[in-house]
Amino acid sequence: MMKALVFHGAGKPKFDDRPRPFVQSPTDAIVRVTKTTICGTDLHILKGHVPTVASGRILGHEGVGVVEQVGGNVANFCVGDRVLISCISSCGACAKCKIGMYSHCQKEGGWILGNRIDGTQAEFVRIPFADNSLYPIPTGANDETFVMLSDILPTAFECGVINGGVKPGDVVAIVGGGPIGIAVLMTAQFYSPAEIIVIDIDDNRLEIARKLGATQTINNSDGNAIVAVMKMTQGVGVDVAIEAVGISSTFDVCQGIVSAGGRIANIGVHGTPVQLNLDQLWSHNITLTTGLVDTSSTSMLLKTVASQKLQPSQLITHHFQFHQILQAYKTFGNAMQEKAMKVIISNDP
Ligand SMILES: [Zn+2]
Ligand SMILES: [Zn+2]
Repeated sequence: MMKALVFHGAGKPKFDDRPRPFVQSPTDAIVRVTKTTICGTDLHILKGHVPTVASGRILGHEGVGVVEQVGGNVANFCVGDRVLISCISSCGACAKCKIGMYSHCQKEGGWILGNRIDGTQAEFVRIPFADNSLYPIPTGANDETFVMLSDILPTAFECGVINGGVKPGDVVAIVGGGPIGIAVLMTAQFYSPAEIIVIDIDDNRLEIARKLGATQTINNSDGNAIVAVMKMTQGVGVDVAIEAVGISSTFDVCQGIVSAGGRIANIGVHGTPVQLNLDQLWSHNITLTTGLVDTSSTSMLLKTVASQKLQPSQLITHHFQFHQILQAYKTFGNAMQEKAMKVIISNDP
C-alpha cells in the first residue's frame, strides 16, 4: 500500500491508503515521487468543475522522482534514473503527436495524470508512454526546481509567450499575476519585449512581478485596468494581451487593451462562457489563441534552467512534507492571505 491524496467528490480531498501502481503496459514506468506540487487546476477539480475526474482519483500532474520499475518496451529510462514527470503523457506516434500536439494525443494520452488516471500526489505513480512523458534530471541539479517544468513553465511559455507571438520591442500585458502569470513574465523576457505590464488585484503578487522583470504593474481592485493600460500606451493598447486567470472579467480586460493587429493569448482554464466582443474587434485585425500545453518546449526549458537563464525556484514560496499535503492545499487555496505562489511537497525517504 501507499499514501495518496484522493478526490472523493467536490470539496472532499482525503489523505488515503491506496494500492501501489504496477506496470500495466510495456511502455509504462513506475516512478517513486520525491517532490510534487499543487496546480490551480487541482483547485478547480476540488470545486467539482472538471467532470472527467472521477471520485476515487489520485490528484496531481506535476512532480519529479526516481524510476522504480519499467515495462519491457521502455528504452530511454532505467530503474534508479531521476526524472521530471511531464503533465502531458504522449505516445509520440499518433497523428497529433507527429505534429507536436501532444496535448491531443489520440492514444489515450494528453492531460490524463490526476484526471483520467491516477496522478502524482502519491508515493508512487504509473506513467504511461514513459519514453515520451519523462525527462532526465541532470545530475547534481536541485530537483525541486524541475517540478516547475512539469506544467507551469511550459504552459506559460507555449500558451502565453509562443501563442502570443511575443517579439523584441513588443508591449505585453499579463492579466493575472499568479504562478502562471509570473511564469509568463519570466519566459517572455527570452524575447526582450519593450514593456511587460502585469495586472492583478494582489499587491504582494505585483511586488513579486516587479522584482522579476515587470516594467509596470496595475492593481485592478478598482476595475480600472483598461483605462490605466490605455493611458500608459497613449491610447494605442498592447501588442500582446495574455489571459492567465480563466474568468470573464480578465478576458474582458484583454479584449479592452489589445491594440489593432494585436494578439490575445488565452491560458486560463475557463469554467463558464465568456463574451467575445466582436462588435468592437471585428475590424481590429486581432488574433485570439487558445490551447492546452503540449510540453513540446520542455527540453528547451531544461537547457535554460541548466544555464540559469531561467530560475524557476523564484516561483517557490512554501515547503511541506507529504503527510502535510492537506495543509499545503489550504495554504495554496488561500494564496492571497498566505502570500503563496508555488508550494513544494516533499516525500524524501
Ligand atoms: Zn497544472
Ligand atoms: Zn499520441
